[in-house]
Amino acid sequence: HEGRCHGRCSHVGSMGGGGGGGACATTMKLDPSALRYLSKDDFRVLTAVELGQRNHEIVPTVLVERIANLGRGDAYKVAKNLLRHKLVHHERKKYDGYRLTTLGYDYLAIQALVKKGLISGVGTQIGVGKESDIFEATDEQGRAMVLKLHRLGRTSFRAVKNKRDYLEHRKNFSWLYLSRLAAKKEFAFMRALGEHGFPVPEAIEVNRHCVLMERMAAYPLVRVRNLGNVQDVYRQAVGLVARLAQHGLIHCDFNEFNLMITEREELIVIDFPQMVSTSHPNAKMFYERDVRCIVDWFHKQYRYDDVDDAESHFSFETVVGRSAAGLLDKELRASGYDKECEDTLEDWRKASHGDSGSSEEEEELSNDEEELPELERAALDVTKLEVG
Ligand code: ADP
Ligand code: MG
Repeated sequence: HEGRCHGRCSHVGSMGGGGGGGACATTMKLDPSALRYLSKDDFRVLTAVELGQRNHEIVPTVLVERIANLGRGDAYKVAKNLLRHKLVHHERKKYDGYRLTTLGYDYLAIQALVKKGLISGVGTQIGVGKESDIFEATDEQGRAMVLKLHRLGRTSFRAVKNKRDYLEHRKNFSWLYLSRLAAKKEFAFMRALGEHGFPVPEAIEVNRHCVLMERMAAYPLVRVRNLGNVQDVYRQAVGLVARLAQHGLIHCDFNEFNLMITEREELIVIDFPQMVSTSHPNAKMFYERDVRCIVDWFHKQYRYDDVDDAESHFSFETVVGRSAAGLLDKELRASGYDKECEDTLEDWRKASHGDSGSSEEEEELSNDEEELPELERAALDVTKLEVG
């Protein structure tokens, strides 16, 4: 696993920190106290580069100076400092210019959250996925939170042909923009689901590509070998897929990785950037795949087979036909998460995964628990320690 793990972590850059341990200790310490060493001018230039990137992949140095309203000498000094901290990248291939690094974008978002008084510390990395990094976070009162940093466009595209088509049609779509959209979507869904009484973490804030949420005292279901009441947990799981559909939504990655379970064996759903509406052309297929994931997992892990036969009992037609709760996806649109956001993310997903559903990696992994990458295993152990 090591090669794969390093491949997935290397982009993060600076090392250190992180109690995750394990074979791959390349977790990044996102230390907001480092923000103290950045001056007002540092953030001015960083923000100027961010603004410039709306129209330029590499922002011309003269434009950075103009947006930041700094003279050449001052801007140069600041940029040098930012370069040293690896917050920007300098390029002079076609012309002299800068772009944000992942870390630079992270710091802009974290600084905004700190300024709002929402967080005062970012701790250990507790998860790393193909499209996100998850950190513990806390505020002055010591509240336990989770900071999810979205990383769309991190991995290379699977199909070269798709990549070419994609890049030709969507020249301006950067990881910055995609990651921000994914965060916006996840936040909107988490909040709306919470308001409708679904068991999800409280959505606290979104800034750029970062979602700040409540930290749940729960284990990912994938780590739990023995359940007190298997049938009850199974019914909660299938019941949640059905209830989501009654609200007009399909999770599309509803599996043992994205379900967490409390000591009292109550399920919590997480991870929403890939959700779709029940009016999606492939809705039935996505819905049935979610149900099947649960049926298969309970069969494999707990030797449990449903006597009621969930797949016919909870058929797509029956459940969607019963929907009375109003279409949640319409509400989401009203919250600013609009069709354009949705189309953009869906296009990207098609180009990178081949469909708009679950991530390739989790599908692979769900077939064999032992295939969990080292870092994930280590990270989950950390979660476990804290709960127990
Ligand atoms: P990804 O998109 O990378 O799969 P997830 O949202 O599924 O990201 O989170 C990955 C892991 O991080 C989860 O399996 C869980 O262990 C942990 N995690 C995520 N959100 C929370 C939370 N709110 N509380 C506690 N742990 C969380
Ligand atoms: Mg997940």
